[in-house]
Amino acid sequence: MPTYIVLLGPPGVGKGTQAEIIAESTGLPHVSSGDLFRENIKNKTDLGKLAQSFMNKGDLVPDDVTISMIRERLSRPDCLNGALLDGFPRTVVQADSLAGLLTEFEGKVNFVPYITASETTLIERLSGRWTCKAQGHVFHEKYNPPKKPGVCDIDGSQLYQRDDDKAETVTRRIQVYFSQTAPLIAYYRALGLLSDIDGAQSIEKVTADLLAVLRN
Ligand code: ADP
Ligand code: ADP
Repeated sequence: MPTYIVLLGPPGVGKGTQAEIIAESTGLPHVSSGDLFRENIKNKTDLGKLAQSFMNKGDLVPDDVTISMIRERLSRPDCLNGALLDGFPRTVVQADSLAGLLTEFEGKVNFVPYITASETTLIERLSGRWTCKAQGHVFHEKYNPPKKPGVCDIDGSQLYQRDDDKAETVTRRIQVYFSQTAPLIAYYRALGLLSDIDGAQSIEKVTADLLAVLRN
Protein backbone atom coordinates (compact mmCIF):
# COMPACT_ATOMS: atom_id res chain seq x y z
CA MET A 1 0.00 0.00 0.00
CA PRO A 2 1.31 3.52 -0.75
CA THR A 3 2.24 5.84 2.15
CA TYR A 4 0.95 9.42 2.29
CA ILE A 5 2.31 11.89 4.81
CA VAL A 6 0.68 15.30 5.31
CA LEU A 7 2.97 17.93 6.84
CA LEU A 8 0.69 20.34 8.68
CA GLY A 9 1.71 23.67 10.19
CA PRO A 10 1.68 27.44 9.75
CA PRO A 11 3.63 29.33 7.07
CA GLY A 12 7.33 29.51 7.90
CA VAL A 13 7.39 26.72 10.49
CA GLY A 14 9.77 24.61 8.38
CA LYS A 15 7.53 22.24 6.39
CA GLY A 16 9.44 22.65 3.12
CA THR A 17 12.84 22.36 4.81
CA GLN A 18 11.84 19.14 6.57
CA ALA A 19 10.07 17.74 3.50
CA GLU A 20 13.31 17.97 1.49
CA ILE A 21 15.20 16.04 4.18
CA ILE A 22 12.50 13.44 4.85
CA ALA A 23 11.91 12.88 1.12
CA GLU A 24 15.49 11.72 0.88
CA SER A 25 15.32 9.32 3.80
CA THR A 26 11.90 7.85 2.90
CA GLY A 27 12.29 7.88 -0.89
CA LEU A 28 8.85 9.52 -1.17
CA PRO A 29 8.51 12.50 -3.53
CA HIS A 30 8.08 15.97 -1.98
CA VAL A 31 4.80 17.39 -3.31
CA SER A 32 4.47 21.08 -2.44
CA SER A 33 1.36 22.91 -3.62
CA GLY A 34 3.14 26.27 -3.26
CA ASP A 35 6.04 25.06 -5.45
CA LEU A 36 3.57 23.74 -8.06
CA PHE A 37 1.82 27.14 -8.18
CA ARG A 38 5.17 28.96 -8.47
CA GLU A 39 6.19 26.64 -11.32
CA ASN A 40 2.95 27.53 -13.11
CA ILE A 41 3.61 31.23 -12.54
CA LYS A 42 7.13 30.86 -13.95
CA ASN A 43 5.77 29.03 -17.02
CA LYS A 44 3.01 31.66 -17.43
CA THR A 45 0.21 29.07 -17.59
CA ASP A 46 -3.46 30.01 -17.11
CA LEU A 47 -3.39 28.32 -13.71
CA GLY A 48 -0.30 30.38 -12.80
CA LYS A 49 -2.04 33.64 -13.75
CA LEU A 50 -5.08 32.75 -11.67
CA ALA A 51 -3.04 31.56 -8.67
CA GLN A 52 -0.79 34.61 -8.65
CA SER A 53 -3.66 37.03 -7.99
CA PHE A 54 -4.52 35.13 -4.79
CA MET A 55 -0.95 34.43 -3.68
CA ASN A 56 0.08 38.10 -3.98
CA LYS A 57 -2.59 39.00 -1.43
CA GLY A 58 -1.71 36.11 0.87
CA ASP A 59 -5.08 34.45 0.22
CA LEU A 60 -5.68 30.83 -0.64
CA VAL A 61 -6.11 29.79 -4.26
CA PRO A 62 -9.67 28.39 -4.77
CA ASP A 63 -10.15 24.77 -3.71
CA ASP A 64 -11.31 23.40 -7.10
CA VAL A 65 -8.19 24.42 -9.04
CA THR A 66 -5.88 23.46 -6.17
CA ILE A 67 -7.43 20.01 -5.86
CA SER A 68 -7.23 19.29 -9.59
CA MET A 69 -3.57 20.36 -9.66
CA ILE A 70 -2.78 17.95 -6.78
CA ARG A 71 -4.82 15.17 -8.37
CA GLU A 72 -2.71 15.47 -11.53
CA ARG A 73 0.54 15.54 -9.52
CA LEU A 74 -0.33 12.48 -7.39
CA SER A 75 -1.27 10.56 -10.54
CA ARG A 76 2.29 10.73 -11.89
CA PRO A 77 4.38 7.54 -11.76
CA ASP A 78 6.84 8.85 -9.16
CA CYS A 79 3.95 8.89 -6.63
CA LEU A 80 3.18 5.20 -7.04
CA ASN A 81 4.49 4.45 -3.53
CA GLY A 82 2.92 7.54 -1.98
CA ALA A 83 3.99 11.13 -1.34
CA LEU A 84 5.06 13.66 1.22
CA LEU A 85 2.49 16.47 1.01
CA ASP A 86 3.63 19.97 2.01
CA GLY A 87 1.08 22.80 2.01
CA PHE A 88 -1.86 20.61 0.96
CA PRO A 89 -4.53 20.20 2.25
CA ARG A 90 -5.09 23.70 3.63
CA THR A 91 -8.91 23.61 4.04
CA VAL A 92 -11.42 21.02 5.23
CA VAL A 93 -12.80 20.78 1.67
CA GLN A 94 -9.29 19.92 0.42
CA ALA A 95 -8.82 17.33 3.19
CA ASP A 96 -12.13 15.63 2.29
CA SER A 97 -11.18 15.62 -1.40
CA LEU A 98 -7.76 14.18 -0.59
CA ALA A 99 -9.34 11.31 1.33
CA GLY A 100 -11.55 10.51 -1.68
CA LEU A 101 -8.68 10.81 -4.12
CA LEU A 102 -6.40 8.51 -2.13
CA THR A 103 -9.01 5.76 -2.04
CA GLU A 104 -8.76 5.80 -5.86
CA PHE A 105 -5.04 5.06 -5.40
CA GLU A 106 -5.88 2.39 -2.82
CA GLY A 107 -4.23 4.42 -0.10
CA LYS A 108 -5.03 6.84 2.69
CA VAL A 109 -3.35 9.52 4.77
CA ASN A 110 -1.06 7.57 7.11
CA PHE A 111 0.70 10.26 9.16
CA VAL A 112 0.04 13.93 9.91
CA PRO A 113 2.99 15.50 11.74
CA TYR A 114 1.77 18.89 12.99
CA ILE A 115 4.70 21.29 13.38
CA THR A 116 4.20 24.40 15.53
CA ALA A 117 6.08 27.52 16.60
CA SER A 118 5.18 30.94 18.00
CA GLU A 119 4.03 33.72 15.68
CA THR A 120 7.22 35.69 16.43
CA THR A 121 9.30 32.72 15.27
CA LEU A 122 7.24 32.34 12.08
CA ILE A 123 7.64 36.01 11.17
CA GLU A 124 11.39 35.89 11.81
CA ARG A 125 11.77 32.77 9.66
CA LEU A 126 9.68 34.10 6.76
CA SER A 127 11.39 37.48 6.71
CA GLY A 128 14.84 35.86 6.51
CA ARG A 129 13.87 33.17 3.98
CA TRP A 130 15.75 33.00 0.66
CA THR A 131 14.37 30.67 -2.01
CA CYS A 132 16.14 29.21 -5.03
CA LYS A 133 14.85 30.21 -8.46
CA ALA A 134 15.39 26.85 -10.12
CA GLN A 135 13.83 24.37 -7.69
CA GLY A 136 12.57 26.23 -4.63
CA HIS A 137 15.26 25.05 -2.17
CA VAL A 138 15.08 27.24 0.93
CA PHE A 139 17.71 28.89 3.11
CA HIS A 140 17.62 31.36 5.98
CA GLU A 141 20.01 34.29 6.20
CA LYS A 142 20.67 33.59 9.89
CA TYR A 143 19.58 30.02 10.72
CA ASN A 144 20.45 28.13 7.54
CA PRO A 145 22.67 30.39 5.43
CA PRO A 146 23.88 29.28 1.99
CA LYS A 147 27.65 28.75 1.70
CA LYS A 148 27.81 31.64 -0.76
CA PRO A 149 25.30 34.49 -0.22
CA GLY A 150 22.63 34.65 -2.94
CA VAL A 151 23.52 31.25 -4.45
CA CYS A 152 21.78 27.89 -3.90
CA ASP A 153 24.15 25.27 -2.39
CA ILE A 154 22.29 22.46 -4.13
CA ASP A 155 21.89 23.59 -7.74
CA GLY A 156 23.89 26.84 -7.96
CA SER A 157 20.88 28.92 -9.03
CA GLN A 158 20.13 32.43 -7.78
CA LEU A 159 18.31 32.95 -4.46
CA TYR A 160 15.46 35.48 -4.14
CA GLN A 161 13.07 36.72 -1.46
CA ARG A 162 9.48 35.76 -2.27
CA ASP A 163 7.06 38.67 -2.78
CA ASP A 164 4.63 37.11 -0.33
CA ASP A 165 7.33 37.00 2.39
CA LYS A 166 6.94 40.81 2.75
CA ALA A 167 5.70 41.86 6.20
CA GLU A 168 2.10 42.84 5.22
CA THR A 169 1.49 39.63 3.26
CA VAL A 170 3.05 37.48 5.99
CA THR A 171 0.55 38.84 8.53
CA ARG A 172 -2.32 38.06 6.17
CA ARG A 173 -1.03 34.52 5.49
CA ILE A 174 -0.80 33.76 9.19
CA GLN A 175 -4.40 35.05 9.64
CA VAL A 176 -5.59 32.87 6.75
CA TYR A 177 -3.80 29.90 8.31
CA PHE A 178 -5.63 30.36 11.64
CA SER A 179 -9.06 30.79 10.04
CA GLN A 180 -8.94 28.24 7.20
CA THR A 181 -6.19 25.69 7.88
CA ALA A 182 -6.08 25.37 11.68
CA PRO A 183 -9.43 23.44 11.69
CA LEU A 184 -7.44 20.56 10.14
CA ILE A 185 -5.67 20.05 13.47
CA ALA A 186 -8.90 18.83 15.08
CA TYR A 187 -9.89 17.05 11.84
CA TYR A 188 -6.79 14.85 11.77
CA ARG A 189 -6.54 14.54 15.56
CA ALA A 190 -10.05 13.04 15.56
CA LEU A 191 -8.85 10.48 13.00
CA GLY A 192 -5.96 9.56 15.31
CA LEU A 193 -3.39 10.60 12.72
CA LEU A 194 -1.90 13.75 14.25
CA SER A 195 1.50 13.89 15.99
CA ASP A 196 2.61 17.15 17.62
CA ILE A 197 6.12 18.31 16.77
CA ASP A 198 7.88 21.29 18.34
CA GLY A 199 9.02 23.35 15.35
CA ALA A 200 10.89 25.91 17.48
CA GLN A 201 13.81 23.47 17.80
CA SER A 202 16.83 23.29 15.49
CA ILE A 203 16.34 21.85 11.98
CA GLU A 204 18.21 18.67 13.02
CA LYS A 205 16.09 18.14 16.15
CA VAL A 206 12.82 18.62 14.24
CA THR A 207 14.01 16.05 11.68
CA ALA A 208 14.82 13.56 14.45
CA ASP A 209 11.34 14.01 15.97
CA LEU A 210 9.70 13.59 12.56
CA LEU A 211 11.62 10.42 11.79
CA ALA A 212 10.64 9.02 15.20
CA VAL A 213 6.95 9.62 14.36
CA LEU A 214 7.30 7.96 10.96
CA ARG A 215 9.01 4.90 12.45
CA ASN A 216 6.00 4.18 14.68
P1 ADP B 1 7.38 26.44 5.39
O1 ADP B 1 7.55 25.51 4.22
O2 ADP B 1 6.67 25.80 6.54
O3 ADP B 1 6.78 27.75 4.99
P2 ADP B 1 10.30 26.70 5.29
O4 ADP B 1 10.79 25.29 5.35
O5 ADP B 1 10.33 27.39 3.99
O6 ADP B 1 8.82 26.77 5.95
O7 ADP B 1 11.13 27.51 6.39
C1 ADP B 1 10.94 28.92 6.57
C2 ADP B 1 12.29 29.57 6.86
O8 ADP B 1 12.77 29.15 8.13
C3 ADP B 1 13.39 29.20 5.87
O9 ADP B 1 14.20 30.34 5.70
C4 ADP B 1 14.15 28.07 6.57
O10 ADP B 1 15.53 28.03 6.18
C5 ADP B 1 14.01 28.44 8.03
N1 ADP B 1 13.89 27.30 8.93
C6 ADP B 1 13.23 26.13 8.72
N2 ADP B 1 13.29 25.33 9.80
C7 ADP B 1 14.01 26.00 10.75
C8 ADP B 1 14.43 25.70 12.10
N3 ADP B 1 14.08 24.54 12.69
N4 ADP B 1 15.13 26.63 12.75
C9 ADP B 1 15.46 27.81 12.16
N5 ADP B 1 15.11 28.15 10.90
C10 ADP B 1 14.39 27.26 10.20
P1 ADP C 1 4.39 28.66 2.95
O1 ADP C 1 5.83 28.43 2.64
O2 ADP C 1 4.10 29.91 3.64
O3 ADP C 1 3.76 27.49 3.67
P2 ADP C 1 3.43 27.95 0.30
O4 ADP C 1 4.58 28.00 -0.62
O5 ADP C 1 2.98 26.62 0.78
O6 ADP C 1 3.70 28.90 1.53
O7 ADP C 1 2.19 28.67 -0.35
C1 ADP C 1 2.29 29.95 -0.95
C2 ADP C 1 0.90 30.40 -1.38
O8 ADP C 1 0.38 29.49 -2.37
C3 ADP C 1 -0.16 30.43 -0.29
O9 ADP C 1 -0.14 31.63 0.46
C4 ADP C 1 -1.44 30.28 -1.13
O10 ADP C 1 -1.78 31.50 -1.78
C5 ADP C 1 -1.03 29.31 -2.22
N1 ADP C 1 -1.28 27.91 -1.82
C6 ADP C 1 -0.35 26.94 -1.56
N2 ADP C 1 -0.95 25.79 -1.22
C7 ADP C 1 -2.30 26.02 -1.26
C8 ADP C 1 -3.43 25.22 -1.00
N3 ADP C 1 -3.33 23.94 -0.59
N4 ADP C 1 -4.65 25.81 -1.15
C9 ADP C 1 -4.79 27.07 -1.55
N5 ADP C 1 -3.75 27.88 -1.79
C10 ADP C 1 -2.51 27.38 -1.65
